Amino acid sequence: MREIPVKTREREEMVDITREVASAVAESGVKEGVCHLNCFHTTAAITVNENADPDVKADMLMALRSIVQEGWPYAHAEGNSPAHVKSSLVGASLAIPISGGRLALGTWQGIIFCEFDGPRLRRVAVTVVAAQ
Ligand code: ZN
Repeated sequence: MREIPVKTREREEMVDITREVASAVAESGVKEGVCHLNCFHTTAAITVNENADPDVKADMLMALRSIVQEGWPYAHAEGNSPAHVKSSLVGASLAIPISGGRLALGTWQGIIFCEFDGPRLRRVAVTVVAAQ
């Protein structure tokens, strides 16, 4: 397992980590298999979505803010329950196929780290599993 550090700069932010994950896959030497990713945090998440137009990331954050509202009567004393809920809605892990030594992603797909309670220094685990 390798770890990718992700330094976020905003309270809510979507950070493209495709290049870092692709480097970890290349270093592994695995040609055919699966790249598993785990976000170690309960107020952040990871997803695959469009990385070409930055408006898509902004729209996803806007939509999540609309679904999970700040003003609800949350019980969690730390005050960051909206971030916890968004983390679970988006998800903590991903599995992406590896083909020909590369991540098998669609033309417009990128791997996006989703910060919901930043800025912080975050970590994503990359586990590369070779197909038999
Ligand atoms: Zn909390």
